Amino acid sequence: MGRKERSLLIIKPDAVKRNLVGKILAQVENAGFKILDLKMLKIKKDKAQRFYGVHNGKPFYKELVNYISSGSIIPILLEKENAISDLRELIGNTDPAKAAPDTIRRNFALSITENSVHASDSKKTFEFESKFFFNRKKQ
Ligand code: GDP
Repeated sequence: MGRKERSLLIIKPDAVKRNLVGKILAQVENAGFKILDLKMLKIKKDKAQRFYGVHNGKPFYKELVNYISSGSIIPILLEKENAISDLRELIGNTDPAKAAPDTIRRNFALSITENSVHASDSKKTFEFESKFFFNRKKQ
């Protein structure tokens, strides 16, 4: 058995609006992830700009910031062996049209913007993103 690792999943506004929270959580739990913490909140544009700061200047930045601040989101702290890479595999390609069968984005996403979920893509981004939404350490 390898060491457990943590990652952060965010259920995005399009999925919350379309009542897909339960289905997405079921797929995540069925894939072996343990839910350590979760909450529902809305973020204002200035916070969204900080969250997606690495994309500042890209053509899709404004649309991305508007979209993620357009409704409720659910950040979820998850734990599993190889959580970061396994969660990226489970969510699938950023563009749902290119995502593999039975990935979350292939199953549920509408478009490259309304792509239902976010997942940390490295240990470094996980540290930033988990502090962004959960400021205490969970055991
Ligand atoms: P992710 O980690 O798969 O979510 O992808 P990135 O971190 O690279 O990008 C963050 C978000 O920006 C993605 O989930 C997309 O919604 C959006 N995005 C990334 N690349 C593009 C693009 O080329 N066009 C558009 N319209 N949106 C994009």
